[in-house]
Amino acid sequence: MSLADCSAAELLRDLAARKVSSVELVNAYAERICARDGEVKAFLHLDIDAALARAKEIDERRASGQPVGKLAGLPVAIKDVLCTAGVKTTCASKILQNFVPPYDATVVEKLKAADAVLLGKTNMDEFAMGGSTENSAYFQTTNPWDVTRVPGGSSGGAAACLAAGMAPLSIGTDTGGSIRQPAAFCGVSGLKPTYGRVSRYGLVAFASSLDQIGPMGHTAEDCAILLEAIAGHDPRDSTSANLPVPEYSQSFNQPLQGLKLGLVREHFGLGLDGEIEAAVREAVKVYESLGATVKDVSLPHSKYGIATYYIIAPSEASSNLARYDGVHYGYRTDEKQMLEELLAEQKQAEAGGSGKELADLDTPLIRLYRKTRAEGFGPEVKRRIMLGTYTLSAGYYDAYYVKALKVRRLIRGDYDQAFEEVDFVVGPTTPNPAFKLGEKTDDPLSMYLEDLYTVPTNLAGIGGMSIPCGLTKGGLPIGLQLQCRAFDEERLLQAAAMFQRATDWHLKRPTRS
Ligand code: GLN
Repeated sequence: MSLADCSAAELLRDLAARKVSSVELVNAYAERICARDGEVKAFLHLDIDAALARAKEIDERRASGQPVGKLAGLPVAIKDVLCTAGVKTTCASKILQNFVPPYDATVVEKLKAADAVLLGKTNMDEFAMGGSTENSAYFQTTNPWDVTRVPGGSSGGAAACLAAGMAPLSIGTDTGGSIRQPAAFCGVSGLKPTYGRVSRYGLVAFASSLDQIGPMGHTAEDCAILLEAIAGHDPRDSTSANLPVPEYSQSFNQPLQGLKLGLVREHFGLGLDGEIEAAVREAVKVYESLGATVKDVSLPHSKYGIATYYIIAPSEASSNLARYDGVHYGYRTDEKQMLEELLAEQKQAEAGGSGKELADLDTPLIRLYRKTRAEGFGPEVKRRIMLGTYTLSAGYYDAYYVKALKVRRLIRGDYDQAFEEVDFVVGPTTPNPAFKLGEKTDDPLSMYLEDLYTVPTNLAGIGGMSIPCGLTKGGLPIGLQLQCRAFDEERLLQAAAMFQRATDWHLKRPTRS
């Protein structure tokens, strides 16, 4: 296996034993990026020179016997929705095309403090809205297992760069499945932590009551290492939980005794691909052979998950995205041209030629907002802003938004009940494997239905993880989803590691085309 295909844990051991240097590692990934990223297009921004300089500095520190951090010398890729001081952060949107944050997100700060090497920023659906990375304003990321297919989304670049061996670890975000679904499509492991586990200071907000940042890697061990580095309370994020961070990287290998798994009855219904169902049932048998007991559980309200999510998430998005007005920061429409247009319209109105009164025309400020937002946002983001503005508007607020909040409580209640009987809820991560590029771009509803099994986790605020559990006959990865009680990530990682000790799906890599 080449260096670029090793797990992060293996690389950290080799770095510590000085069998490999950080500079050698960065060069190995740079080489792979040269070979593969032309086709996969996982990165929006790369700065190999900066990564090499940082790697060299860490190598020197280690060589001179000075203390180094827990991730010393290990390259990490970061989804472009997290602020990186002095490095462009676009959220794959035109409206932030020139945004260079003056500060680091807490997660980035923690990675730097652990001496990780920031490799680059990964592509995503614009503002994390989507499930295929086709909504990026810049370009399309492809699935390294089959470049005619999507890598999933919205953390598509983060998953694809792992699968193609272009980074050993990556940071994703998950509002309704954006870590787990691309992890499933790309054959890697990804963990959405409990709401509040990881600080979101410096994360560009999509839907604030749902967003979480989480680790992506090849194995449960890699996710444990990364989660340990980024989790914890942060006074700058009042929603971050003030709870101690377990040593996930030390405990992940402990076997779980008397494990009780609940198979979600509703997740095996209509619409589930046959090969996915077979692989998931096979995975459950593996757990049984390891001593787990399995029973059916019901999440009766999960069928309302999509409807509830697609009211709450756009409502919050419409409010969060109000800040992109072309005044404070980000893209601004061409003011000169805008004013010329407005003057011409005023003249026409004065002459009575356009059928419009002067009073009907925008003020220059309103026109600036309007044009900036019309030009800066892509179609899916606009759709969500319109949906959210509608569901929050007077007269509809109670019928949609408040109703959705009530259903959300019922969904959480279903999980509370299930977790009285079982330790984890298991099922497929996605209803189908990676679909073809362009297949769903004209059909938002079918794109939204992709999130069927993942959104309830976010609505309930609990933890969820996707791990590889098979390949289709066509050679596409299949993900197994495990969901846990709030703040039970330690055991979730143990359950995932248990599966990975017994199987080798997490070791599979796409064969190079
Ligand atoms: N696919 C979902 C959406 O489009 C989830 C996105 C996410 O988790 N960021 O909203």
